[in-house]
Amino acid sequence: MARVLIVGAGLTGSLCAALLRRELPQRLSRLVLWDKARGAGGRMATSRGAQDPKCTADLGAQYVTRGPEHAEAHQRFYEDLLSHGVLKPLTAPVDGMMMKEGAENFVTPQGISSIVKHYLKESGADIFYDHRVTQIYLKNGKWEVCTNTGSSDKFDIVILTMPVPQILQLQGDIVNLINKSQRQQLESVSYSSRYALGLFYEAGTQIDVPWAAQYISNNPCIRFISIDNKKRNIESPEIGPSVVVHTSVSFGTEYLEWDKEKVQPLILDQIKEIIPDLPKPASIKCQKWRYSQVTKAFPGSAGQITLHAKPFLVCGGDGFTHSNFDGCIDSALSVLEALKSGF
Ligand SMILES: Cc1cc2nc3c(=O)[nH]c(=O)nc-3n(C[C@H](O)[C@H](O)[C@H](O)COP(=O)(O)OP(=O)(O)OC[C@H]3O[C@@H](n4cnc5c(N)ncnc54)[C@H](O)[C@@H]3O)c2cc1C
Repeated sequence: MARVLIVGAGLTGSLCAALLRRELPQRLSRLVLWDKARGAGGRMATSRGAQDPKCTADLGAQYVTRGPEHAEAHQRFYEDLLSHGVLKPLTAPVDGMMMKEGAENFVTPQGISSIVKHYLKESGADIFYDHRVTQIYLKNGKWEVCTNTGSSDKFDIVILTMPVPQILQLQGDIVNLINKSQRQQLESVSYSSRYALGLFYEAGTQIDVPWAAQYISNNPCIRFISIDNKKRNIESPEIGPSVVVHTSVSFGTEYLEWDKEKVQPLILDQIKEIIPDLPKPASIKCQKWRYSQVTKAFPGSAGQITLHAKPFLVCGGDGFTHSNFDGCIDSALSVLEALKSGF
């Protein structure tokens, strides 16, 4: 029986937790998730408006695309989410969307973080937010994992699912466990950066555009806009609409080290160029995605890397595959296989 810690309550971490509970329940004495954030989702983030928590916007991932190459292998994951109403087919018009032949898009009526919450609930794990892991030590055959608040706990198995540069920031014995070639491979993983704005409106506000979402190709700052409730097919007179804006990667990279308070007005100016009649929102959230989508995955894209076998220390996440739902499923499945072979 093992005490297992999963670091990261994003899609990969939550799915690892659900799969462990599904497939190896008799091997778990305790399943714990720690995340540095205040809530679940990671880059599958759904934010609430300050004036009305029912008004929500997806600031990271927008929809789930089932690639034809994964349709069969991942069928059970899609069927599970569709049967629970977590996923629904995307039916709203998205201008400028490029679609691979045979691919299908799905939206999340309760927000994209509802996928992560679905898996967390299934896992029955003990989840602790505001827990930023800072150091990992190997002591008497167990992992001692420490947080920024000075607290620590001991585990038999640790699964790290954060973006790779955040794995490389960890201190303690883990620094010496990563050999030179693994370090070089980990350092080669790269991510794009971008900003996202969520604009939240009061009920009854009209946003008159003929699309639910639009990809923009001729603006230096803005790449994507979504009228989020319209995209998710949940338009209601009682809940205000919300708008999501993603910047281009070039803008995100140029302003990466700026304070987001200074970047927000630059983005708002550009939105006015695209939608001059856009009403003034009741509240705004600006999100900096330093690690947005993987531009170069871990060599071989095997889904995980085992840093230590006895006791187990394994890394997963989209950095080991690619940045979408299918990529995170592949990573979580690889982590599970690695654990099964070593249990
Ligand atoms: C702007 C944007 C748009 C996107 N669009 C799409 C899309 O339309 N469709 C799609 O499928 N995908 C999309 N993606 C990609 C998708 O969101 C990611 O591939 C996926 O969410 C990655 O999940 P993950 O669990 O591997 O990592 P993450 O979601 O990053 O989860 C890692 C978690 O680890 C936590 N963490 C980090 N460091 C520590 C630490 N030291 N201690 C404790 N916790 C820590 C973080 O808080 C985070 O919750 C998009 C991403 C972004 C940013």
